[in-house]
Amino acid sequence: MIIVSACLLGINCKYDGRSNFDHRISLLVEKEKLVSLCPEQLGCLTTPRPKAEIKNGDGFAVLEGKARVISEHKEDVTSFFIKGANETLKVAKLLRARCAILKDGSPSCGVNFIYDGNFQKQPKEGKGVTAALLAKNSIKIWAEDKIEQILTLVEKRPLVAVVGGGNNQISEEVLCLAYEVGRLLALLGAAVLNGGKGGVMEAVSKGCQDAGGISIGILPENTTEKANPYLGLALATGLGEARNAVLATVCEGVIALEGEYGTLSEIALALKNEKPVVALKSWDFMQQEPSLLFASAPQEAVDIIYEAIWQKRLKKY
Ligand code: SF4
Repeated sequence: MIIVSACLLGINCKYDGRSNFDHRISLLVEKEKLVSLCPEQLGCLTTPRPKAEIKNGDGFAVLEGKARVISEHKEDVTSFFIKGANETLKVAKLLRARCAILKDGSPSCGVNFIYDGNFQKQPKEGKGVTAALLAKNSIKIWAEDKIEQILTLVEKRPLVAVVGGGNNQISEEVLCLAYEVGRLLALLGAAVLNGGKGGVMEAVSKGCQDAGGISIGILPENTTEKANPYLGLALATGLGEARNAVLATVCEGVIALEGEYGTLSEIALALKNEKPVVALKSWDFMQQEPSLLFASAPQEAVDIIYEAIWQKRLKKY
């Protein structure tokens, strides 16, 4: 979920009753869930309204009570801007928004710059009040100049490895969990990596296929004869157990189910490669390892790994 300044989506909520429509946002609508908000309208300001700028500081200074937001008619409208910022934060938290794309230059939404408070169209570095409050609350904020990068970010399917035992002793309960994990990941549009064989690998591949997704098997043999029948793509590596390292290296995150030392090695290799790992009824002796996360149900495991992958991707920008 991404918060977007409503005026960028074409809503006529600007101070002059117009919008800042940016056609690139409409491309994003098709890829990711967006919520459009106008902090100034949420702060109970009317549209149209007098232009406003921050005097003697930026959004952070306003939040600290060291600067004020003043309208072009010299009215102090600070309380409306703070209310709008608080309401926006409330929605962002409620919807667990990952980030926000905000209109630069605005005394509410400005990310890189705002105006200097003299109504002379003089930009200065700094954030608007809402942008500052979101940033203070660890919500990643971007201005509209980053839309291309964000599009790239959301277009790339998450690549999730699901690891677990391949032997015949895996219980029906674990196979059902693996099937559900594969199905849920496919519904979210993830590409699912696994070892390509039986047991957990077969169940996750089937779940993925049944939901119309693609699973990729990284096989230890140099032929695909022993691949499970539900793979969208079977890669015969000829690497034997070393294929576990390939799996753990190329994925963006791992969901680990019950398994033996092969599974344990995949968990360890993924952690060594700084990939997030969610253990779902799997090895759980490394409770102190911060990258090893725990889930008790497939939906929880998928939610956690998705969030962890997103947070990792966001750090690059
Ligand atoms: Fe656009 Fe933000 Fe200004 Fe509302 S407050 S008009 S969303 S820039």
